[in-house]
Amino acid sequence: MYADLGRGRWKIGEAAYTYYAGQARQRMGASAVDLTAGDTLALSEAAQVLWGEWQSIRQGGTTSGGRRGQQFAGRPLLLVWRRSGDRMAALAGGAAFLESAWLRAVDPVLVNHGARLTLTDADGQPAWGNLTAANNRASVRLASTTRLPWTIQISAVPNPATGDNQPVRRRLLAFGFCLMVLLVVSGSYFIGRAVTREFQVAQQQSDFVAAVSHEFRTPLTSLCQFTELLAKGRVTSEEDRQRFYCVLARESQRLRRLVEGLLNFGRLEAGVLDYRFENLDPAVLIGQIVAEFGEEGNARAHRIEWSACDSLPAVRADREALGCVIWNLLDNAVKYSRDQPSVRIHIGRADGRISIAVRDEGVGIPRAEQDGIFRKFTRGAAAEALHVRGTGIGLSMARQIICDHGGEITLDSDPGKGSTFTVFLPAVEPS
Ligand code: ADP
Repeated sequence: MYADLGRGRWKIGEAAYTYYAGQARQRMGASAVDLTAGDTLALSEAAQVLWGEWQSIRQGGTTSGGRRGQQFAGRPLLLVWRRSGDRMAALAGGAAFLESAWLRAVDPVLVNHGARLTLTDADGQPAWGNLTAANNRASVRLASTTRLPWTIQISAVPNPATGDNQPVRRRLLAFGFCLMVLLVVSGSYFIGRAVTREFQVAQQQSDFVAAVSHEFRTPLTSLCQFTELLAKGRVTSEEDRQRFYCVLARESQRLRRLVEGLLNFGRLEAGVLDYRFENLDPAVLIGQIVAEFGEEGNARAHRIEWSACDSLPAVRADREALGCVIWNLLDNAVKYSRDQPSVRIHIGRADGRISIAVRDEGVGIPRAEQDGIFRKFTRGAAAEALHVRGTGIGLSMARQIICDHGGEITLDSDPGKGSTFTVFLPAVEPS
């Protein structure tokens, strides 16, 4: 009876079938096959649905066939039906049927490519494959697109053969995150550096303004005092009067040089300094500058000696600009060697160039500062420590001017022993 029940010998409903199958199995013992397991019940439910479809077709329904993937008695089934004359052909198949009919051929191919197939019915229930195994990296085709009874989902699975267990997506995310952190860190670094540099420039500029004001104040004070004394007739002796006139002339010259220097600096910065190049005898030019320098009292306690090689060729230069460079070097040599009275200038020849070396025996320049002092607004530690007046633009202007003449300026300095600044200019060979 139990076997006949399984074969469907009697036309009974699902409830009766379940009841009798349970009763019979109790009597036969647990070893008997469970007739309610497997697709049997699901197939009988599916048959009822198919019967309903057939009735609606016969009564003139709009369709003459159809297909559907659906859960029956908790099991996924595929139903396909079509009218054929006055009969209907129908198929109801479970997972085992799907596998044997179609998927057995497809599944190994997918597995080989590290992919897994999942079919879900219209209610989102799995008809084939395991939904939980599918991950985000899935390609999905809806039933409406494929016109199959399922939504098809192909998802990537880690390939144990390659040992590549970490999902690529996670690695990409980690990489993106690292890249972002790197960008943020490097961005912060560059912004920090730019801000620091801006602060430094602002500081240098305000130091420059203070230094310039100070530079102006000293000669102006002298001019005011001496002019007042002269104007009020308080200077009685002719000798004193003459001395005061000399002071006035010297301080006026100092102011003139200061203003001219600043104007030239502005023109150099703006790139509009006009040079009037001419062939100059370097020895004559240096001789004049040294004489002027001494006359204006800049040398004070210093002894400035100059020498030149015989038969020097000319240099093509702007008299005023080159004069300004040499004056600056002389002025620095005097300023930074207060206790060492000797300053020497030597004009020589080297590799088709004229060299003008200004040497002092003063405080020298620390190695760490030697590159930086040619930058504008830069003043060395010695200048601050010795309270030497200055604006920090002399050497930057000198380098720019010499560069515009096609030459270069070098520094050789021993801290504590002195410095030598050498200007190299291309020599004009006689044609
Ligand atoms: P300033 O002399 O007005 O400060 P410069 O541009 O002429 O500006 O010089 C820049 C810095 O280089 C000076 O502040 C000083 O520290 C250093 N320097 C220049 N010439 C000498 C020198 N002959 N001996 C020692 N230090 C010097």
